[in-house]
Amino acid sequence: IQVFVPRDSAAIAVGADEVADAIVAQAAARGASVELVRNGSRGLLWLETLVEVATPAGRVAYGPVGVDDVAGLFEAGFLSGAAHALCHGLTEQIPYLARQQRLLCARMGVTDPLSLADYAQHGGWAGLQAALQMPADAVWQTVLDSGLRGRGGAAFPAGIKWRTVAQAQSPQKYVVCNADEGDSGTFADRMVLEDDPYMLIEGMTLAALASGATQGYVYIRSEYPLAFDVFSQAIARASAAGFLGDNILGSGLAFHLEARLAAGSYVCGEETAMLESLEGRRGIVRAKPPIPALSGLFGQPTIINNVLTFASVPWILAHGAAAYKAYGRGRSTGTLPFQLAGNIARGGLVELAFGTTLRELVFDWGGGTASGRPVKAVQVGGPLGTYLPASQWDIPLDYEAYAAVGAVVGHGGLVVHDDRADLAKLARYAMAFCAHESCGKCTPCRIGSTRGVEVIDRILALQPVALPDGGHAEGAMAQQRQQVHLLRDLCDTMVNGSLCAMGGMTPYPVLSALNHFPADFGMGLAPAT
Ligand code: SF4
Repeated sequence: IQVFVPRDSAAIAVGADEVADAIVAQAAARGASVELVRNGSRGLLWLETLVEVATPAGRVAYGPVGVDDVAGLFEAGFLSGAAHALCHGLTEQIPYLARQQRLLCARMGVTDPLSLADYAQHGGWAGLQAALQMPADAVWQTVLDSGLRGRGGAAFPAGIKWRTVAQAQSPQKYVVCNADEGDSGTFADRMVLEDDPYMLIEGMTLAALASGATQGYVYIRSEYPLAFDVFSQAIARASAAGFLGDNILGSGLAFHLEARLAAGSYVCGEETAMLESLEGRRGIVRAKPPIPALSGLFGQPTIINNVLTFASVPWILAHGAAAYKAYGRGRSTGTLPFQLAGNIARGGLVELAFGTTLRELVFDWGGGTASGRPVKAVQVGGPLGTYLPASQWDIPLDYEAYAAVGAVVGHGGLVVHDDRADLAKLARYAMAFCAHESCGKCTPCRIGSTRGVEVIDRILALQPVALPDGGHAEGAMAQQRQQVHLLRDLCDTMVNGSLCAMGGMTPYPVLSALNHFPADFGMGLAPAT
């Protein structure tokens, strides 16, 4: 009987390894025949450790399973899919999973991540096989036609980038994957690396075929040791099986891939700082132009995309651009694996077409806050993303609709805060984070973020004093208005004067906090100016 226990960082963090050991021990003690499979995670993180048992009707899910639950599960007959308080029925019918539109994440949790046979049986390599029958131009044209945009934050059309590199004249070109997933509340890249690594290998190989690149690098976040280990093993197995190397599947085309451990710096998620780091230097942002597509790694034409962008491509090549475009809204085509985190009852990975809303994600999937208190704000797009108040939770999640209200979809990470959150402190944190992570190259970010912390501290120190008659000391209110004006000026300078998104986007959480939650800054009494 096959029993599945995820070997994914999120599952391991809550005891999956110990649960797996306990299942093996219980089976041995009871003389039960169990084949333990360490699969990936389904992304239903609130149910981890999610144990599944293969039955004739399909896989039955139990979770969250702790070590202490294992003996009871055996006694209840879980090996035959029997009822139990932790039983959720057939995994595929759990509403959280069944209602998703899983294109990119379809195999996650289903397969053994390192099994090449599993990958092939579940649709793997179909995109590569299709691409090997096409001219290179048709590969990037398909990506262009699909409307796929970079999932790392900037949302630049991937096909245009691929075409630029394909048409550049150079004897050496590169494909680089940014897997330095440093945004708060995000974990989709990690899940691809740990739970379906061949999908990324296939996507990068497609980029190589489209552009003529022969060498690729994956820059993996240093805090992801398991992802690095799993992905390194996947490269070795794919190479041994002929999916990478000098003669991919007998086509005569060459593509070699290496994993690189990142340097632990947030700004190395910026593409040019990442290139500096890959080349062995400090991760400092490069001025553009030249763009990396023409002069990237070691000065050569380079396709740079993040994990989710590359991982989207195998499906597109296998099913066609039109099928991908059928998902999404406007220019935001396809799906995005949204990541529900923070103070949320049912955190996890939810892949849906663009156009869903925060309200659906946070309440229909996430079940509201873990604390049971009202949701106050949701930060979307990482630590430099906007805080969205309730009035904005019905805006369709797509790049244009979010940009229209000064927000970003970014990498699809959502961090939920309940009504106890102090948005002024969170705004201060954004400035302090920027000051800590700034690469120092440009003044608005290097100096501006430090000044930003100071100004917010002054605003908070100038809480208007209540007078006995119910009024407030006008002097303190005037000073506070002056400091808020200064903060807005500073944010304007950072947005318009910073060299990269680090300094350019830090004002997003600051200004959204100030605009939507002025009371947290003591501004409820004084009009914002
Ligand atoms: Fe460096 Fe900040 Fe300027 Fe970006 S904005 S180049 S991180 S100093």
